[in-house]
Amino acid sequence: MNYLFSKVSISGNLILRSYVPCKLNSTFALNDPVSYYSVSIHPGKINVFYQSIGGGRAIAPSEARPEQFKNNRHNGKVSLIAKRKIKNGLDYMLFLAKPKKLPNSRVGKKRSFKLNFITLDLSSDQVHSDQLIKRYLLHQFLVEMRKKWRVSLYLWKAEKQKNGRIHFHIITDKFIPWNELRNVWNRIQQKLGYVTRYREDRLNWHRAGFKYAPQYAPRWNREAQYKAYQEGLRTDWDNPNSVDIHGTKHIINLKAYFSKEIAKNPDPAKPDRPEENCPVCRGPMHTVKGIFRCYDCGHSKTHVSGMLWGCSILLTDLPGARTDVDTEIQAELDAIAGSGHAYVYNERYYSIYYADFKLLTEFKCKLLLECFYEYIRQKFPVQYPPTLF
Ligand SMILES: [Zn+2]
Repeated sequence: MNYLFSKVSISGNLILRSYVPCKLNSTFALNDPVSYYSVSIHPGKINVFYQSIGGGRAIAPSEARPEQFKNNRHNGKVSLIAKRKIKNGLDYMLFLAKPKKLPNSRVGKKRSFKLNFITLDLSSDQVHSDQLIKRYLLHQFLVEMRKKWRVSLYLWKAEKQKNGRIHFHIITDKFIPWNELRNVWNRIQQKLGYVTRYREDRLNWHRAGFKYAPQYAPRWNREAQYKAYQEGLRTDWDNPNSVDIHGTKHIINLKAYFSKEIAKNPDPAKPDRPEENCPVCRGPMHTVKGIFRCYDCGHSKTHVSGMLWGCSILLTDLPGARTDVDTEIQAELDAIAGSGHAYVYNERYYSIYYADFKLLTEFKCKLLLECFYEYIRQKFPVQYPPTLF
C-alpha cells in the first residue's frame, strides 16, 4: 500500500491517508503511473472516477459519447447532457435555498417559501423570431431581475405554447411579488409592441361591447371573462395578465416536479396540420419531421430555436467538491451504498452514487461532508457565508 500526503485539513495539519490501490491496476510496478480514484461531491450525487497521474482522466469511448457531440442541432429538444446539468443546477438551488418567511400576503397568512417558479408569456401572437425575443426581451428581464429583486440563482427554460408563442419558465431563489413581476415584464415585452398588439386585439374583439369566448371555458368561464373585460376597460388594456407565479408549498417532491417541468420535450406536430403563413416572414409553414416550421426563415410554432435553457453564472460551472478516495472515504461511500436509499450506477471507469445530501448527514460521512461544505462556502459565499462551526 502506498502512502501519499493529501489535502491540508481545516486546522492546517497535514493528514496522512492511506490510498486504496487502484482496482484496475493491482499489479503495478514502480515505473507505472500512479492510479487512484477521485470523488466529486454534489448535493444529489457523488461521482467516483478513475484517475492516473501522468495518464489523465479516462475518456469515454466514442460510441458512448452523447449525441450532441456528433450533431449540434438540438431541434428544440433538451439533450441528455443538458438534462443532467439542469438537474444538477436544481440540486444546488434546492440545497442553497433555505425556507424563508414571506411578508404578509393578501390573505393575511404567513407563508413560507423556498424556490419561485415563474412563467412569462407574450400577450399577443409572436411576430418575431425566437432568437430576437430572447435577445431583446428575456435578456433584459434577466438583467433587471438580478438587479431589482437581487436574484443570484436562477434557471430558465424556453417553450412553445399550443398557440405557437414562445414562453419562459424561470426558477429563482428569491421571492418576486406578482404585481411587480407583471409590470416589469409588460414594460419589457412592449419594447417589441406586444402590449399594443394585445390592446388592438382586445378592442377589436369587444368592439360591440362584451363578447364571450366559449372556447376558453370552463377554465376561463363567462363570469371571469366579464371581469377581465371590465378590468381591461378600466386600464385601457395596458396591463395584460402575462405572468404566473407557482406556489411550491404544496409540492412534496420539488426536485422531481422542477426536473420534469424544465426538462420536458415538445410534442411533435401532427403531419396533417393545415398549412399557414409564417407570422415572422409570411412564408409557407409545413410539418417536417414533427416540427411545424417555415420553409423560408425556419421559424417554428412547435419547437424553440436557438438556446433552450440557461442559468445564472453561479450555476454554470459546478465541478463539485473534489477529493481523492482513501480507505476512510471508501468506508463512507460503502455506508451510503449500503443504506438502501442510494442508487449506485457502475461503469468501467467511474461510478455514480445517486444519494440525497441528507443521507451524508444521516450516515455521519464526516470527510465527505467536510469537503463538500468547504466547496460550498468557497463557491457560494453570499448564499452560504463561512461559519466558525
Ligand atoms: Zn418565416
